[in-house]
Amino acid sequence: MPTDRADAAAAAVDADEVLAIAQALIRARSENPGTTEDAAAEVVTGVLLALGATPETVRGDAGRPSVVATIGGDAGPTLAWNGHLDTVPAGTLDTWSVDPYAGEVVNGRLIGRGACDMKGPVAAALVGAAAVRRAGVELAGSLTFHLVADEELAGTHGTQVLRDRGLLTQGAAIVGEPSNLEVALAERGGAWITATTYGAAAHGSQPHRGVNAITAMARFLLRLDEVVPDTVHPLCGRATVNAALIEGGSAPNMVPDRCIVDIDRRTIPGETDPEKVLTPFRTLAEELAADDPGSDLRTEIREWILAAEAPADIPIADAIRTATAAETGTTPPDVGFTGITDARFYLNDAAIPTVIFGPGDLSVAHTADEWIGVDDLVIGARTYARIFASFLGA
Ligand SMILES: [Zn+2]
Repeated sequence: MPTDRADAAAAAVDADEVLAIAQALIRARSENPGTTEDAAAEVVTGVLLALGATPETVRGDAGRPSVVATIGGDAGPTLAWNGHLDTVPAGTLDTWSVDPYAGEVVNGRLIGRGACDMKGPVAAALVGAAAVRRAGVELAGSLTFHLVADEELAGTHGTQVLRDRGLLTQGAAIVGEPSNLEVALAERGGAWITATTYGAAAHGSQPHRGVNAITAMARFLLRLDEVVPDTVHPLCGRATVNAALIEGGSAPNMVPDRCIVDIDRRTIPGETDPEKVLTPFRTLAEELAADDPGSDLRTEIREWILAAEAPADIPIADAIRTATAAETGTTPPDVGFTGITDARFYLNDAAIPTVIFGPGDLSVAHTADEWIGVDDLVIGARTYARIFASFLGA
């Protein structure tokens, strides 16, 4: 019986409408950093009004817009669908084969900044909801869209504002980042660490009189992989470490007395204690200092974001698996998401069972010629229509 409702909703998806909304969103440039999400917020507000919803724009202190709207009834489960309206910048324009903000379709691919991350998935979810309505499928429960600002720079002016306003109250959530329609139940976190070596300056012609901070840092960086524990998370794999930015020295004829490196250490669920993450860095620094008494290396965490994880047996994950299997013929695997998303606000701060699930392939996000398949948009919309129709009940 729920299958009938889901089939009817999927059949009501208008393929041209998904593409048109995705194109309109790509044309509503929303680079972060660089500009605001206002133009994109206007596009989704128009779509939500046409759906019969009463969209509200929520702005934090920075004034950035997140659009919130609810459809459905008040006698069943509640579901939040979160998607971000901002994108990373286009980057160097001559690395693109087309205008990143024209929304061109080439060989079945919609190309543009945000095509897969994640204006395409936003269009798919909106059209999924429109199809439910068009099919005349009554929703006992309600679907609340959180179409947010600022995900790309940690969500401070977007989902975090919704959290602080007490709007993360739903019984389940989907964060529609491109997961290739796989069920992402966990995401990694991050520890951003600053490592500094302190040396002693001297004339460059007499290096033995100084202590070279760059050389000391080089020894540390060559062994950096040792700071990652062997622990393997079933969905997220191992933690990783990446030396991301380096600065050191003052002049070509001096022994450098300082070198600073920004390190991006990605954590896996279960790594909850920043001190524990930092300890292997300090142990390595002590080992190096034992061999080289002049070297002095200090580390500190400047930013910490907790990894997040949902149990595999939550009802929204089951609804997603059933809907995807009905649409594609294959039950999607459970996976981990390598990047950090707004799912952490729902999972860690609001204790809402949440799955990261959307069409498109994350590996083309943030690249030149970012794209999503027009077919992927339609299958995404049909799958969302099935999820909304079945999970939110009759
Ligand atoms: Zn994204």
